[in-house]
Amino acid sequence: MSCDELRDAWLRHGDLPPGGAEHIASCASCQADAAALRALAPALRAYAAPEPPPTLGRAVLRAAAPLLAAHAAPVPRPAWRALAVALLPLPLVLVADWFLVRGAHTLLSGILPDALSLYLAGSYAVLLATLLGLTYAAVPLLAARQLRASPEEHHA
Ligand SMILES: [Zn+2]
Repeated sequence: MSCDELRDAWLRHGDLPPGGAEHIASCASCQADAAALRALAPALRAYAAPEPPPTLGRAVLRAAAPLLAAHAAPVPRPAWRALAVALLPLPLVLVADWFLVRGAHTLLSGILPDALSLYLAGSYAVLLATLLGLTYAAVPLLAARQLRASPEEHHA
């Protein structure tokens, strides 16, 4: 237990925390402050924190309204347009991937057993599909991020 932990627990709970007496016996700093802490702890416990008035929340919001309005960020527009534009070349990409996977399977079939070349081509197709899915999943996020960026960032 550190000196700060001891003092914090003592003042917060009004009594010495477990192990506090041993700490005070071995710590000159806490021994010097023990009398003051012993007098202060019950006095602090006697005063309860005042209840906030029920109108405090509304008053704080009313006072902060101009500041919140000045710093409000516009809600980003949906990124559907960017996603639609990104989907335009998708058929071409799928056809290119199909020929790539088929070509890889044909090439591998010449040098490897058929089952192994099919497995490798299938794994390659799964990898391509995963990368394509991740890419298209990122398009709306990236578009929304670009729409959120301030105009100064575009020119910098
Ligand atoms: Zn101490």
